[in-house]
Amino acid sequence: MNLTSDIVKSAGIHTYMGGHAIDAFTDYAVRNKYQHLVIVADDNTYNVIGNRVERALQKNSIKPHTLVLHGNGDPINAGARSVLDVLIALEAGTEVVVAVGSGTITDIVRFVSHRTRLPFISIPTAASVDAYSSITTSIMVEEVKRSLQAKQPKAIFVSIDTLRKAPQTMTAAGFGDMLAKYTAIADWKLAHLLVGEPYDDSIVQSIKTALQQCIDNVKGIGTHSKQDIQLLMEGLFVSGICMAAAKNSRPAAGSEHSLAHFWEMTHPENGKPVALHGARTGVATGVISGIYEQLRSLSYQEVERWVQAAALPQISEETAGIQNVFGESGPQINDSRFSFLGMSQTDFQQLKKNILINWDEIVAIASEVPSRERIVSLLHQAKGASDPLEIGIAEEQVSQALRWSSYLRDRFTVLELNQILKLID
Ligand SMILES: [Zn+2]
Repeated sequence: MNLTSDIVKSAGIHTYMGGHAIDAFTDYAVRNKYQHLVIVADDNTYNVIGNRVERALQKNSIKPHTLVLHGNGDPINAGARSVLDVLIALEAGTEVVVAVGSGTITDIVRFVSHRTRLPFISIPTAASVDAYSSITTSIMVEEVKRSLQAKQPKAIFVSIDTLRKAPQTMTAAGFGDMLAKYTAIADWKLAHLLVGEPYDDSIVQSIKTALQQCIDNVKGIGTHSKQDIQLLMEGLFVSGICMAAAKNSRPAAGSEHSLAHFWEMTHPENGKPVALHGARTGVATGVISGIYEQLRSLSYQEVERWVQAAALPQISEETAGIQNVFGESGPQINDSRFSFLGMSQTDFQQLKKNILINWDEIVAIASEVPSRERIVSLLHQAKGASDPLEIGIAEEQVSQALRWSSYLRDRFTVLELNQILKLID
């Protein structure tokens, strides 16, 4: 028994991980006297395990209604169309919804389940994301990726063999989503220090334990060792549980997630296959770790000079820039008044003062983030993408994301410091 398993156990989600997930799930369904289940899968996950789940229920005289979402050649999108498809599949007597899939299917079901007040059960098909045990969901609303309130599953049944058979790119993406915690935690600490955002150190300690466990076992994660895939999955669960404990995604998502969402929203893949969420966040963690490196290399005299010269950006210029970069989604982003758009002159002057007063502590926070070289090496060991170009993101798109992605979320991160201290343009 390790600390991570203890955290998972204490979350109150019925969790099974092992070699008999389908049996464990059917026993659970029989024990709960479920008769009206809706299984949601996509073409791929239905073939991987969904069809066996369906048959196992039928053998126990339970006739589930199965909804297979079709992407017609494209990946399923967690957006309005899929949400509506799931809503239509629900009937008056539906007792529980079963999400058979990875991040996208789980995000869709978690959202519908929350709004319809129905419980849901997760049967993951890859250790690719930390969404399984989370309370927030990423839904595309009119071309803007939004983090919305959702709910945790009532139970999770993990077939380790199924996770091991998932493509390595998916497992590497899960590892990338774990690495993101380095920069997410540092951003949270900065927000607490500089703009007084509430912070919980016990949550941070839990997530750091889970992250370290994944780092220590990266080689086995890269080779799909049974034990290490299980450790990765536990780490991803802990991340979701920490988000639930914090009641937002702060412990798990910072500036690196803003970059990843920005790329997903604004850029085609330049001929590369569409990258997974965790592949984007892993690559983005490398980029942000470079900013933290720059930050800790500044002398206090340089900081003073930049802070004194910094001015709150002109709203008209920012609005025009947002319109230019985000196109049709521009007005929606502009209305949200996040980041500098929502900051008053008084708050900005206070922020500048706080940067100078707390500079030593800022450097201490930055020092907890590994170097970009180390992040790249870890991603390599997990056999994942580490360079933006590998996921179709050109240098210019990295610069654009660093400049504009902070307007996607109401969240203070190192991206604001990057603007004030001119760390990376
Ligand atoms: Zn994530």
